[in-house]
Amino acid sequence: MVWAVIRKTPAERAGATLKDYDAEASRFSWAAARAELAGLPGGGLNIAHEALDRQVAQGRGGQVALRWIGRDDAIREFTYAELTAEANRFANLLRGLGVAKGERVYGLLGRTPELYFAALGALKAGCVFTPLFSAFGPEPIRARMEIGEANVLVTAEALYDRKVAPWRGELPSLRHVLLTDCKAAPPPGVTALEPALAEMPTAFETAATRPEDMALLHFTSGTTGRPKGAIHVHEAVVAHHITGRTALDLRPGDIYWCTADPGWVTGTSYGIISPLTNGVTLVVDEAEFDAERWRRILREQQVAVWYTAPTAIRMLMKAWSQDPRPYEAPALRFMASVGEPLNPEAVVWGVEAFGRPFHDNWWQTETGGIMIANFAAMDIKPGSMGRPLPGVTAGIVERGADGSVREIEAPMGMGELALRPGWPSIMRGYLHEEERYRKCFAGGWYLTGDLAMRDSDGYFWFVGRADDVIKSSGHLIGPFEVESVLMEHAAVAEAAVIGLPDPVAGETVKAFVALKIGLEPSEDLRRELLGHARKRLGAAIAPKDIAFRQNLPKTRSGKIMRRLLKARELGLPEGDLSTLESEER
Ligand code: ATP
Ligand code: MG
Repeated sequence: MVWAVIRKTPAERAGATLKDYDAEASRFSWAAARAELAGLPGGGLNIAHEALDRQVAQGRGGQVALRWIGRDDAIREFTYAELTAEANRFANLLRGLGVAKGERVYGLLGRTPELYFAALGALKAGCVFTPLFSAFGPEPIRARMEIGEANVLVTAEALYDRKVAPWRGELPSLRHVLLTDCKAAPPPGVTALEPALAEMPTAFETAATRPEDMALLHFTSGTTGRPKGAIHVHEAVVAHHITGRTALDLRPGDIYWCTADPGWVTGTSYGIISPLTNGVTLVVDEAEFDAERWRRILREQQVAVWYTAPTAIRMLMKAWSQDPRPYEAPALRFMASVGEPLNPEAVVWGVEAFGRPFHDNWWQTETGGIMIANFAAMDIKPGSMGRPLPGVTAGIVERGADGSVREIEAPMGMGELALRPGWPSIMRGYLHEEERYRKCFAGGWYLTGDLAMRDSDGYFWFVGRADDVIKSSGHLIGPFEVESVLMEHAAVAEAAVIGLPDPVAGETVKAFVALKIGLEPSEDLRRELLGHARKRLGAAIAPKDIAFRQNLPKTRSGKIMRRLLKARELGLPEGDLSTLESEER
């Protein structure tokens, strides 16, 4: 199937924040982007100051900044002025405890308001903030806190008791633990957060951070192996701010829902920082995914811009196959997706279910912000990640054995996706892994580790992670292409494809498939899927074998762990599983 281009209407183009891609890209400068922000006196820059104080100073103090929906549907709202006050209280608490600028504050919380106070307050105090998934077990928490030499941990009592208290004494850098929801008097060495915050003044002079001061330490998703700690600085806010407007179409006053957990980079860059610097009202749902609940939030909260992920979209599609009621989301204007390749099937399903397509965009923990995107004013080629952001130069390159790097100019030539360093949110290092960091750069490029192609219109097409690409009888096969074809079949909810060693072909393609609700695996269905793939892809690329699975193994940020499927298939060690989500769901 060749997917038809989804054309944007003249009205859609005229209404978008980025109306004319070519014109905007040619006149873009990061210096001009920086000039939109306030900065601190004396040339300083602070992410939280731009997200909060700048908005209040510009008269946005009375607008709701954060609308939090509790698991039980209770709603708590904080205006820009109130959120600033809460962040200030948190910053004052850190100061009162003697926590200095540059010290590391970790957040291990569900999606609660306190997490937002802590992230923003820590940044205001000039500390480095690191979010962790609250669903991590004790080991991944401990490993990340040891690597980052955590000084302060903000968490909930229940999480602390189970996951941190047993080993806390073995982490000497950890001086303070701040606990939310303390039922009784906190144990020694621990501060109950809410009462302590209540006593703090609501004014705070933001620490005099410099643009190059470390602000965030983000661990990667661990999809390909042991997670890396990517260092980001305050200057990243320039990219967070501009890319929110250009790639997510954010406008002041919009109601915006980012479904990513702040435990990974999307939930911070686009779940906290970018929406606030862009003056939107942020909707945060404490509860886990639930198709019916999400349908309700989109409608009741009047969400205008929605940023989600392929895994969630595929789960919604799964639910839809049982119950295909169109979504009532009258305020919805723009839907975007990130984190994994978005199958063309899912892009087009958006049109069917919401009356508008999903806009895929691409970036990584290391890039700190969106790098390649389908923009609101741009026609969508389903299956493509779109075009580089204004200010970002992307290329397809080939690394030679001698370490040289050559750009592949020919349209649809496959190679490694590379970016020219120079955008403000590029990582400044992998913590304690200097050599690994250095290896990401060659020939004036930052090398992403992903394979892609660029077509003659300048659209980029994801092929697969370099580690996941399959070499079979002289063909290079990207798992995404094969998975997308399997997804076209009405019975398939999710698919993952790996290469298995083969004495003749080098590797053969094996697929793992999860079926839609209510369907049972059968030999007939297996044969039908193999036939469908062969017809669409040809015998050289189609899977030789298909196995059915109830669920596919994923990271907590929702990425399919192909390496784990492969290790299990080959009986090899499973490697670092610290980010593996429970496979029950
Ligand atoms: P690790 O580096 O530890 O293996 P990870 O790469 O999954 O983990 P992240 O930085 O969270 O950690 O994810 C970035 C990666 O996710 C990208 O390099 C790419 O492989 C994938 N990705 C993100 N967005 C897209 C997209 N729109 N299309 C295809 N792949 C995407
Ligand atoms: Mg990665």
